Amino acid sequence: MVVLAGIYVLMPLFKEPKGNLDVDLLAETELDRLLDRKAVVYSNLKDLEFEYQMGRLSESDFQQLQAGYKNDAAAILQSLDELDASENLDEMIEKDIASSKAKRYASSPKPARDSSRCPSCGAEVVSGKKYCADCGHRL
Ligand SMILES: [Zn+2]
Repeated sequence: MVVLAGIYVLMPLFKEPKGNLDVDLLAETELDRLLDRKAVVYSNLKDLEFEYQMGRLSESDFQQLQAGYKNDAAAILQSLDELDASENLDEMIEKDIASSKAKRYASSPKPARDSSRCPSCGAEVVSGKKYCADCGHRL
């Protein structure tokens, strides 16, 4: 009974549709998250400059806050670069895989003419030979 009551109390937390939706949206991609953060920092910087121009901030406050936001922006840009680099790496790996596949497909289906196979037993036959070395089949 206590367990049931506990589940009953906890259920609404797991069923909360809005909360789950937010989590899904936030978890979309690392790139989106970083771009969102960058947009926030940039708008903070604009707001800060506006506040300063309106005379609501002292110059030292402005410079201190601006330095902080610029640090944030730099960190975000660096993360974006790293993300970019890792995406390019994935791309490179995929291209490598694709090209090695292409090589394999290019070399395997058409055997070179000077190493044909015996139509009888399938053994490799050197060109110019009239009989298969394995089974003696006439080539
Ligand atoms: Zn043969």
